[in-house]
Amino acid sequence: MSLNQRSLNLPVHYIFFILFKQLVDLLQWDTLAYMKIVRFETQGAERYGILESGIISSITAPSVGTVRETDETFKIEKVRLLAPCVPTKIIAVGVNYRSHASELDHQLPERPLIFLKPPTAVIGPEEKIVYPVTSHQVDYEGELGVVIGKLTKHIPQERARDCILGYTCFNDVTARDLQQKDGQWTRAKSFDTFAPIGPWIETELDDTNLPIETLVNGKVVQRGSTHDMVFSVPELISFISDIMTLIPGDIIATGTPGGIGPMQSGDVVEVKIKPIGILRNYLMKDS
Ligand code: MG
Repeated sequence: MSLNQRSLNLPVHYIFFILFKQLVDLLQWDTLAYMKIVRFETQGAERYGILESGIISSITAPSVGTVRETDETFKIEKVRLLAPCVPTKIIAVGVNYRSHASELDHQLPERPLIFLKPPTAVIGPEEKIVYPVTSHQVDYEGELGVVIGKLTKHIPQERARDCILGYTCFNDVTARDLQQKDGQWTRAKSFDTFAPIGPWIETELDDTNLPIETLVNGKVVQRGSTHDMVFSVPELISFISDIMTLIPGDIIATGTPGGIGPMQSGDVVEVKIKPIGILRNYLMKDS
């Protein structure tokens, strides 16, 4: 077995964790102000890069050794953008917007209501969400995704923002009929392709009043602001880090505003957070 085969077979997530950590170390953390981090594929290779004015400056991330900056640049339209990070887990938050609680006729939760989505559900921008044959109602849920940048455990709220690498758009795709049928949410939230992330990570944002919209076939179906959150981003990070260790690249999907609804095969769905960008995906039937 070659070295390559061995490293692919075993700890794929561990390798990505190392690469991601090397990237974060390389960028020296404090220099990350107002930067768009992309992960992309070109000529069969996956890379990280920094996006500026449509040009990606590539950063090498070999699986052994130190990450280095390169002189290589790529036009964004010449590469395929991937999900901007490779999470070991996605921690999602239920009923975290007052407008969503009210449309569900739910009481506001007394503490964050969290659940997990598996990393195997992740897809990138412009990829297809597969409509499973076992569901008859697949819903969009446009959300702000918080990307973790440091190993995080038992972090108080006051220091929680220090653990954020940046922000991205997230679609918490949900088989609503299965969610209602099961009681437990795992099946409804975990199908492959049910966690679109992207298009990139914006490193510097005020997360307290971000406009968030979801569009289906160009029509706005959700419109809210992170100002409407029940639990703030620091409250969520602190609460979750008291339960599980957060690893660089992990994502917190911070909940969806009111206006959830179904998608059909053939639809185009977009999650738009203006200071970040637009995450666009397409619905298709399972073949
Ligand atoms: Mg959600």
